[in-house]
Amino acid sequence: MIDSRNWSEILWREWHHTQDDAYAKQLHFALSKDNIGQPDPSDIVQGRPLLSEVEAALRQGRCHSASLRKIWGGRLERLDRAKNDYLSVGQSLRDLSHVHWFRRFLGRHLLFEIGGHAVEALEDVAFGDSSYGQEDARWVLHCISVDTTTRLAAEPECWICPDCWLGCGLLWIDRPWRSDWQFYGCRNCRRSRGLLHRTQEMVVVFDNRSSGLSCQEGLIRANWFTRRILFDFDRIEIIRATDEDIERFAVQAGNDTDSLRRSRYPRMRCTIGPDCHLSANTIRILENSFGRVEQTTR
Ligand SMILES: [Zn+2]
Ligand SMILES: [Zn+2]
Repeated sequence: MIDSRNWSEILWREWHHTQDDAYAKQLHFALSKDNIGQPDPSDIVQGRPLLSEVEAALRQGRCHSASLRKIWGGRLERLDRAKNDYLSVGQSLRDLSHVHWFRRFLGRHLLFEIGGHAVEALEDVAFGDSSYGQEDARWVLHCISVDTTTRLAAEPECWICPDCWLGCGLLWIDRPWRSDWQFYGCRNCRRSRGLLHRTQEMVVVFDNRSSGLSCQEGLIRANWFTRRILFDFDRIEIIRATDEDIERFAVQAGNDTDSLRRSRYPRMRCTIGPDCHLSANTIRILENSFGRVEQTTR
């Protein structure tokens, strides 16, 4: 993302723009100790670098500068450890107004890492009555907006939430009195990290002897029996199921209020395996609900 020349430029820009004086002092200290060229004060300073850019620049700087390694080496390790631990929205939000600058730094970067799941709580702080953590919360929201749009906007339906088994969609960060910011995440829970990327179909599988969801070579197979509710799919594969199960599924699809899915049903393919003996009535229900119903033979 960044090359070895511009990491110092990014960190100087962060130093220039941050409202956090103690943090600015630490950046200045690390950069000036090794005489890492401060940009000419007459240069126009571009906007504040994104949280992801700052983090990448610190990691680059750690390899190139002894003073950065000394001041930031252990702290970046602590950030990595915190990312691997349970990421708590509440704890990280409290950290935004912590007395120590590094806890505030951790709060910003961990909330950014949490992403869409943290948006609602961040909105409360960013646009609430208290000024504590407000600037930071707004900045994290902006970074989540840019980051999720960059990663997910091109094909949101290809990014599947492993909790909800749904693709992503366009969502909004509510800014009172200003135009809203967009971001992308799970259409149900807003998750924007740790998503499954599919490059092929998402298949709903009816096999009452197995369960769960698998993602192999970009093909996602999700077993209806695990949850017995609707989720995203663009093909139906019935291996073992009773008439009752399939009728229930057809009723769910018939009552589906999700416009994205509804539009796919008339063209959707449904295959029934050789070991599944559904009644003529159930097959008729499937044919009325979906595009093409095929019975496969051994
Ligand atoms: Zn979700
Ligand atoms: Zn894709």
